[in-house]
Amino acid sequence: MSDNRNDNNRPDKPEYPEGMPPRTGRAALAVFLSLIILFASLFLFDGRSNVQEIPYSAFLTYLELGEVDTVQILDQKEIHGTLRSTDGSQVEFKTTIPYTDLALISKLESKNVKVSGGEKGASPLQIVFELIPWIFGFILIWSMMRQMQGNNKAFNFGKSKAKRYVESDKKITFNDVAGQKEAKGELMEVVDFLKNPQRFIKMGAKIPKGVLLVGMPGTGKTLIAKATAGEANVPFFHMSGSDFVEMFVGVGASRVRDLFEQGRKNAPCILFIDELDAVGRTRGAGYGGGHDEREQTLNQMLVEMDGFDTKDGVIILAATNRPDVLDPALLRPGRFDRQVTVAMPDVREREAIIKIHMAKIPVAEGVDTQILARETPGTSGADLANMVNEAALFAIRKKRTQVEMDDFEDARDKILMGVARKSLVIAEDEKKATAVHEAGHALLHYYLPHADPLRKVTIVPHGQALGLAMSLPEKDSYSKTRGWLYDRIVIDFGGFAAEKLVYGETTTGTEQDIKQATDFARRMVCEWGMSDDIGPISLGQEDEPIFLGKEIARHKDYSEDTAMKIDGAITKILEGALRQATDILLREKQKLESLADALMQRETLEDTDVRSLLGLPIRKEIAAD
Ligand code: ADP
Ligand code: MG
Ligand code: ZN
Repeated sequence: MSDNRNDNNRPDKPEYPEGMPPRTGRAALAVFLSLIILFASLFLFDGRSNVQEIPYSAFLTYLELGEVDTVQILDQKEIHGTLRSTDGSQVEFKTTIPYTDLALISKLESKNVKVSGGEKGASPLQIVFELIPWIFGFILIWSMMRQMQGNNKAFNFGKSKAKRYVESDKKITFNDVAGQKEAKGELMEVVDFLKNPQRFIKMGAKIPKGVLLVGMPGTGKTLIAKATAGEANVPFFHMSGSDFVEMFVGVGASRVRDLFEQGRKNAPCILFIDELDAVGRTRGAGYGGGHDEREQTLNQMLVEMDGFDTKDGVIILAATNRPDVLDPALLRPGRFDRQVTVAMPDVREREAIIKIHMAKIPVAEGVDTQILARETPGTSGADLANMVNEAALFAIRKKRTQVEMDDFEDARDKILMGVARKSLVIAEDEKKATAVHEAGHALLHYYLPHADPLRKVTIVPHGQALGLAMSLPEKDSYSKTRGWLYDRIVIDFGGFAAEKLVYGETTTGTEQDIKQATDFARRMVCEWGMSDDIGPISLGQEDEPIFLGKEIARHKDYSEDTAMKIDGAITKILEGALRQATDILLREKQKLESLADALMQRETLEDTDVRSLLGLPIRKEIAAD
C-alpha cells in the first residue's frame, strides 16, 4: 500500500513564469568570444605602448651616467621612469628591483632624479589572466546549478515573483471535494467571512487569521484549500513551503514578504502555503548548526502574520502532514491558531471520491463503485483519483471506448500491490518455490480466527515482490486487536514455514515477512502493552528528530535488564507464531501442496477459487458497514 501516486495528477505544482530558456550553451559561447576580443585588444594595446624593459644593472649604469630623468617606484619592486638621451628625446623604461637596494635612494638623490612613489597597478593582462579561472568556474557552477534547479529556481530570484503564486484558472468548489464534512464545515466559516467581512466585523466576531490543514499525504488538503477560495470566489495565491527554502540566504524571506504583499494588494483573498513544514520546522532543530535560511524565512513569516489584520480580508491557509515538527510559534494565537483535520476517507467517502473522478471518464454499465470502495481500504483520495485514471489507461490499452469493471480491478490491484511485472522471466524451480511460499501465506488465512479473509494470491511478480497473498479487511478499522496482530504474524511466517516444510530449507524471499513480523512483535511489546511479561508500558519513546532515522533516534529509557526482558517477550511471540504456522501447514500439507500446484498452473487465485479448490465453504458476501 505504498505511496505510488503519480505526481502528475497533483495540481499543487507551482507554475513558473517563462523563465530563462535553456541558453546556457549560447551564453557561455558569448562570454568566450568576448574574452577573446578582450585579449586581442589588450595585446594590441600593450604592444603600442613603447616602454622599454631594461635590466636593473643597466638602470644603475644609466643612473651613474646621469641619464635618468624621473622615476616612479612602485611597491618597492618596480621602477618606471624616463631617460633623457643625449639628443634630448625622452625614453620610457621600466625595470624590476631584484634585491633591496639600500643605496638606491642616496644614488637617486645625488643625481637629482625626480622621485615619486606609487602602487603597482596590475597590468590589465594580468588581471584578465587571474580572472579566467574564476570566470570559467562561475560558468561551470552556474550551468550545474541551473540543471540542478530545473532551470528555474536559483536564478530568477531577481525577477518579480508575482506569477509564482498562481491563481487557479478553473474554479474548484466544495462540490469537487468528496466527504471531508468536518473540514468543509470549519472552512465554511472562512468562506462566509470572505464573502461578507463587514458582518463579522460589526459583530466583533474574531475570525482566525490562519488555518492549518493537517492530514496525511493525498487526503486532499491542497484541493480543499483551493475549493475554499473557489467557494468564496476570491483570488487564491499558492506557494509551497519548499519554494521558500532556497540556496541563497535571504531569498526565502523576501519571497515571504512578496507573497504577503500580493495578499494585501488583492484582498479579499486566500494565501495558501502548502507543505508548511518545509519552512516551519522548529527553529534550531537542524543538526549541524541549523539552517539559517530556513529560520530567517520562518521569522519573516511570523513577522508578516503578526503585521496582518483579518480586517484586511486576507486569510492564510497552510497545509502539512507533520504538525508535530512545526515551530510552536507558528501555532500561537494570531497565527495558525485553528487546525482543521483532513482525514483519510472511510468506505463511503471512498465511494464518493471514486464517483467524483469517474464523472470525468466514460464508464461502462455494471461498474460497482461500492465494491471498489470496499476493496480499497487504507487508500487516500489521491490514490483513488489515481486508480480511476489508471483504469482509464487500461481501457485505452485494450482499445475500449468505455472503462469497464475489470479495468478498475486491474487499476485497484496496481495501486494496492504495485505494478504486475508479467514480463519478468522466472526459472521454473524458483517459480515453484514462490508458489509454495505464497500458498503457505494464503492457506493460513483459512485457519486463523482473527485473520482478514484472503482476497487474492498470486505468483505474478509485483514491484519488488515475487508473489503476493493479499487479504482484505471486512471493514475499515482504526485499531487492531491483539488477536488480529498475532494472527497477522502467523500469516507472515506462513511463507517461511511452507518453504521449510516442503524443501527443508528457506530462501531470502522471507526477508520482508520476517521484518514485518518482528516489527509487529516489537510494537506489541513496547508500545501496545500486549505482552503479559512486560505489561502495559511504553518503552523506547520515539521522539523522532528530523534528520535521523527512527532507529537511531529511539532513545532507550529502560535498563539493560528490561532490554533483556523485551527481547525475551518479542522472541516468545515470534517463536509461538512460527510454531503455530508450522503446525497448521503440517496438518494441512496436502492442501498446501495442491494450492501450490494450482498456483503454478493458474498463477493467480481469488478467494472463491481457493475455497472451491480446497473444498472450503464459500464465504458469504460481507455487507458494507
Ligand atoms: P494533499 O495536498 O493532501 O497531499 P491533494 O489535495 O494534492 O492532497 O490531493 C491530490 C488529489 O487527490 C486531488 O487533486 C484529487 O484529485 C484527489 N482527492 C483527494 N481527496 C479528495 C476528495 N476528498 N475528493 C475528491 N478528490 C480528492
Ligand atoms: Mg498537497
Ligand atoms: Zn512472503
